[in-house]
Amino acid sequence: MAETTITIDSLITVGTLAEKIKVPVTKIITELMKNGVMATVNEKIDFDTAQIIVAELGLDLILVQSKDDQKEIVSFGKKQSNSKTAVERPPVVAVMGHVDHGKTSLLDAIRHTNTVSKEAGGITQHISAYQIEYKNRKITFLDTPGHEAFAAIREHGAHLTDIVIIVIAADDGIKPQTIEAIRFAQKAKVKIIVAVNKIDKENADVARVKQQLSEQNLLIEEWGGDIILVEVSAKTGQGIDKLLEMILLVSDIEELRADLDVPPTGLIIESHIEQGRGPVVYALIESGKLTTGKFIVSGSNYGKVRILETTDGQAVKEAMPGMPVKITGFKTLPEFGDSFQTLENEKQAKDFAKQTGINSISKSGDQISSGELLRLINRNNEVQQLNIIIKADVKGSLTSVIDSLKSLNTEEIEVLIVGSGIGSINDNDLYLAKTSKSIIYGFNSQVSPNIKHQADREGIKIKNYNIIYELIDDVKSELTAMLIPEIVETELGRVIVRAIFATSKTEIICGGLVTKGKVSLPALAKIYRGSDLIGEVELTNLKRGQMDVKEVLEEELCGMSLSLKNQKINIQVDDKLEFFERKVVSRTL
Ligand code: GDP
Repeated sequence: MAETTITIDSLITVGTLAEKIKVPVTKIITELMKNGVMATVNEKIDFDTAQIIVAELGLDLILVQSKDDQKEIVSFGKKQSNSKTAVERPPVVAVMGHVDHGKTSLLDAIRHTNTVSKEAGGITQHISAYQIEYKNRKITFLDTPGHEAFAAIREHGAHLTDIVIIVIAADDGIKPQTIEAIRFAQKAKVKIIVAVNKIDKENADVARVKQQLSEQNLLIEEWGGDIILVEVSAKTGQGIDKLLEMILLVSDIEELRADLDVPPTGLIIESHIEQGRGPVVYALIESGKLTTGKFIVSGSNYGKVRILETTDGQAVKEAMPGMPVKITGFKTLPEFGDSFQTLENEKQAKDFAKQTGINSISKSGDQISSGELLRLINRNNEVQQLNIIIKADVKGSLTSVIDSLKSLNTEEIEVLIVGSGIGSINDNDLYLAKTSKSIIYGFNSQVSPNIKHQADREGIKIKNYNIIYELIDDVKSELTAMLIPEIVETELGRVIVRAIFATSKTEIICGGLVTKGKVSLPALAKIYRGSDLIGEVELTNLKRGQMDVKEVLEEELCGMSLSLKNQKINIQVDDKLEFFERKVVSRTL
């Protein structure tokens, strides 16, 4: 069959895509979920994602991006300015790699602080950013979280960066997360610097790492490729200077520049609510000079920059391109990964935000439309679903929780995220939980006593956690409880029927010889004639000679009362009885 060509915009809602490619929306949502994307019917996905979905669905289609809509979604790193007024800007660097390979230690060594902040669960849970100065030049580091549960954030992280440092422990070599990080970096077309860490260790094997890299098509400079490899030890500090020099060298080659005399723009890298401060946003300045008092818009959110600080909380008057800053003044929470811009006055900012809000979906609490919800919940397939609503304190965590939950899905059972959002658990969540029979999970989320009381009254479960693994484990145990238990049959012994003493509609009394194992009460038996299964009966009484017994062993003769359990079975001499126990065993995921 000839392939059909379908033209779509670079951003397309799931619903429109479904219509265009004539596939049920739920199928697309499910496919997106499988690919780690939580998108509701009205949510927009990009062209690349749409293409992946079409390919995964095995459709004979070619998607083409509409001509007037081929604005590339560029990463921060690719945004360079050629204008005359452009100034040099610091490189934005993210550190990625397999857990325990030394990302945190390396960032510490770079900062010379050695203060690994211990967050809940002992891992860095939020993306954060900071700037260092080396040889009078600035370098911005994005501290991307290190555990695979945070793959989502890391992916965003890669899109915000000019350079990705892939940390590989010399004693451990390339691991799945290393490959994942390399893939992210390549996808975002950013420069990769490999830091082979822990070279102080006795069993460090740098040659093996180089070999493994070449197997991933990453050829190091030494071998004629373009991957810079630096050998470091976060512990002894060896190679750290070289690593920083390489970062500066790469940024020189890349000629990272940005315009200063343009209205400031940038990217949101974190957003959360702080008591007494309202929405607090970490942002990376892309171009222009951001100062307090500017009207700022990001997606459908707007505000006026009230306080501008470095990411460690030092007040600053202005923020230059490449600088990560903390901003207060937004009226609502902007979305992690969204860009921001500034406008002349409040009215313009408000109008702009409103317009963006109409064009895109409301992002502050992604919820499935009620029709869609019903359809999903009533989905008539064999997969069992656990409906949940997730609230988190910040966007980054929300994405991580959602992503981790998706990894729990099996062919038999899955988590359906009916709603998700930022902030405290509220009336809306209760309503949604009630109508969709969902459990509400909070991650660092507030629950007022009033809401708690109401939930208790309505029988709605609210569970709040501040350690992601505990939350995931709880969902796992909820899923486990839903698993259909397994029925396990254990064979006890076999008997050959030697005589029939009495038969009635409901019972047969017969005698036989135990040829294998034993027969004990209570038990069930399958009756075989030759190789044919005749039926199943229940042993209700057992005798050795005249005596009622509980058990008869191999080679012994016995008398048996067998309940027919409403079946018409005509047991004959020489039939074989296979005795067994049947137990219902609950299962684990
Ligand atoms: P992350 O999970 O990638 O952030 O890894 P960490 O920075 O937490 O480091 C994991 C472990 O490796 C810790 O016990 C560190 O002390 C240790 N480590 C990190 N870098 C080095 C290094 O260069 N040499 C040695 N010997 N140990 C290191």
